[in-house]
Parts: sequence; structure tokens; C-alpha cells
Amino acid sequence: MKFLVHTYGCQMNVRDSEAVEAMLVAAGHEKVENEQDAELVIVNSCTVRQKAEEKAIGKAGNLIAAKKVTGLMGCAVKRLGADVFKKLPHLDFAVAPRSAGLIPRIVAEGRYPRLELGDDLIPEALAAHSASGFQAFVTVLLGCDNRCSYCIVPDVRGHEYSRPAAEVIAEVEALARRGVKEVCLLGQSVLRYGVRNPVWPDAKGEAFPRLLRALAKIDGIERIRFTSAHPKGCTDELVEVFRTEPKVCRHLHLPVQSGSDRILAEMGRHYTRAEYLAAIRKLRDFDPAFAITTDVIVGYPGETEEDFEATRSLMDEAGFDNSFIFKYSPRPGTRSALLVDDVSVEEKERRNQVLLADQQRRGLERNLRLVGTVREVLVEGPSKRNPERLGGRDGGNRIVVWDASDAPIGSKVSILVTDAHAQILVGEAKVLGGK
Ligand code: SAH
Ligand code: SF4
Repeated sequence: MKFLVHTYGCQMNVRDSEAVEAMLVAAGHEKVENEQDAELVIVNSCTVRQKAEEKAIGKAGNLIAAKKVTGLMGCAVKRLGADVFKKLPHLDFAVAPRSAGLIPRIVAEGRYPRLELGDDLIPEALAAHSASGFQAFVTVLLGCDNRCSYCIVPDVRGHEYSRPAAEVIAEVEALARRGVKEVCLLGQSVLRYGVRNPVWPDAKGEAFPRLLRALAKIDGIERIRFTSAHPKGCTDELVEVFRTEPKVCRHLHLPVQSGSDRILAEMGRHYTRAEYLAAIRKLRDFDPAFAITTDVIVGYPGETEEDFEATRSLMDEAGFDNSFIFKYSPRPGTRSALLVDDVSVEEKERRNQVLLADQQRRGLERNLRLVGTVREVLVEGPSKRNPERLGGRDGGNRIVVWDASDAPIGSKVSILVTDAHAQILVGEAKVLGGK
């Protein structure tokens, strides 16, 4: 069958979609690029905010109207349960995140409608990859047990479970053999790797830093990234890995959510503003160019102007290289959904715009400091905006573009930064080829 997977949401969903694609191809189906050519279309949904869920459901509705065999997978399925068929009466199948491995079987049997909400992990689904390229996502920690007040993720992605280190290492070795150079390790709170369940046969050292060190030994792997982090996990051992392992990228996505201690406590984030800033300081102390990016929520219930200003000032103090700003969206069943959503839509939008403008200015300031320095860049391909240029990312996950040279995709090049924008570094190739 000709098929296509549409993905909404985070990198975790991107990875799950890749796994489903790989499994369907292995079962003899054909992946197509164009929706018109597809007989089967699967929508991988997000539900972290209401708008995100609506987009995925809307997309599935259109596909049903276009008479495709339509499946919905991902987080919205787990949240809605059987109600998903009330929203989409002619949907063929719906599969929760941890049941994604069942999709090839469901398609083979073709008995619709079908709903799978189970938590039965299918090992093939965890390892399956469409690792055609040089970059790959690797899930190391599933689910989340943190239960931040606003967050639906623990309800839809289940309990925290860390994959055994040996399994992760074997997967990354297999990826390296297929030409993968950069891996990104995924987990909702990935520094909790090995906290809930043991992952190493003995208890030497901290589980996650130890995993990074083991992966750095694999030949062919040149870069190791991971996301998302939490200040509690920024231990001295982790800082030491960043300092001493050149393959481990000097970038941390460290969602802060708010700069107000009162709001942080209400959210159940388990750190204060001061603790958050201290975590960053340890990293920037040994490398001022260490990239820190973040997520922020504006308009949390009861967020006053003063709380908001605290977030603004924290963002300046932290000097984020990039930030993702979200307008609070109450999610049914979470603790904060019981509170009155009292910041108006207009005010949320205003706060969002203020933080975006701040970030533009701050991003430019931080990037300008890199002009005149040489960045190591992994070549990703022609730049989206200007195909005459090549683009890639440096270790800090910054987008770098330069006038096209003959550097092959997937190779590493040294780029001298000559100009900077808020979101992009511009440069020229110094040494071609590389490893
Ligand atoms: N596990 C990650 C976050 C996953 S959700 C972490 O804790 O670091 C991605 C981002 O969506 C969150 O960091 C948060 O900023 C935002 N988010 C989550 N729930 C939200 C909600 N109810 N309303 C608005 N934004 C939300
Ligand atoms: Fe959600 Fe908090 Fe878990 Fe992140 S750590 S997924 S924000 S509950």
C-alpha cells in the first residue's frame, strides 16, 4: 500500500513516525511523498496544547473526507480514548503512543475501525529507524513521572521507563554502521535516565553521564545531542562530560517555564529561579558560547504583571540563545485545569509578543559575539531561504549558512562567522571536507 505519515508535535513524535515508516516499509508498503498518491495516511498527533490537538484532528478529518484509509496515532489518541471516534466518526484506526508498534499488524488485518490504547511496548517499534541520513533520534527514556501542574504528557505517554544502556548502545552502534554521524537522545526529562529503573549492571557513577561517555566511544558517531533537560540533572558529573567529551554538543535545552518563584512552585517544577541560573552558570563558566535554549509558558493561571516581569528579567539574566514561548492552554485532567484560566487571550498574546521581541534582540546580541570565530558545522544541505547557500548547525544547534562550497552533506566543515542575525549565523568555509 502507498502510505504517508503526517507528524505534529515534538521530536519524540518525529522519531515515532520514523519508526512506523520503517516498519511499514519492512512489511512491504511503499512510502510516498505526495498526499494525493497515498492510499493510507497516518496522522501523528500532539495534545500538549489544545490548538495542537485541533490541528491534528482537523488534518485527519480532511483525509477522511478525501477517502483515504486514515489512521491517527500519538498523544491525542491516548487523551481522547474512544471519544476520538466521536470527533472523527469515519476514522479507520487510532493508536496510542506506546502501541505504535501494532500499526503494521492493524494495516495487514484491515479490520476497521480499531482502537489501541495499550501500554505494551513493542521492541521493534523502539529500535526501528528510517536512518537513511546522517542524523537520528534515539529514545532513551519513555514517559514522564514529573507531573508538572499544567502538563498532559504523563497522562498520554505513560510512566517513566529508561531503556537499558546496552540496548541504547547497540542501537547507536547499528546507526553508526549505517552512516549516522549525529544522534539526538530523547526523553521528556532525559536527565532522569536510570533514576526509576536500573540501566547499568552495576551502580558505578551517574547513569546518564556514563551513557554519554559510552556513546562517545562509538566510531563514526561525531556528535551527541540530547533533549529535554532539567536543572536537577545538571550535576558536576554531567558538566564534566560536557567539558571533556568533544563529541557531546555544548547545547542544553533547559525549559524554565517561568522566572517567578511563586509560579514555579505552583507548577511543581522543583527548582527556584536562583537554582536554575546556578545550573546555567556552571556550563557557561567553562564555555561562554555554551548554548542554552528554553521553553516558557505565558499566562499561567494567576500570573501577574510582576510574575511576568520576573520571567522577562530571568530570560535576560540567563541570556538564552533561543526560546520557545507558549501561551498557557488548560488541559483536562491536569492540576492547573482546576484553576481559573484568568489571564485573557489578549494579555497572553501581548506577553508572548514581548518575550519574542526580547528574544530577537537577545539572540542577535549573543550571535554577534560569535562573529570572527570559527564554528564546526555539520552540513545539512542547501539553505531553505537561499539554495545558493549551504546550511547546517554548529554544536550549539545554531543555524549556520555560507556560500555553497562542495562540502558533502553529512560532512563537518569549519566556518568562519562573518555576520549574524537573531536566528542565523552567516559565514564562509575555511577548511573543506573534514571527517
Ligand atoms: N518534557 C519537556 C516538555 C514537554 S512539553 C520538559 O519538561 O522539559 C513542551 C513544552 O510545552 C513545555 O516545556 C511547555 O513550555 C509547553 N507546555 C506544556 N504544557 C503546556 C500547556 N498546558 N500550555 C502551554 N504550554 C504548555
Ligand atoms: Fe510535562 Fe513536566 Fe513531564 Fe515535561 S517534565 S513532560 S513539562 S510533566
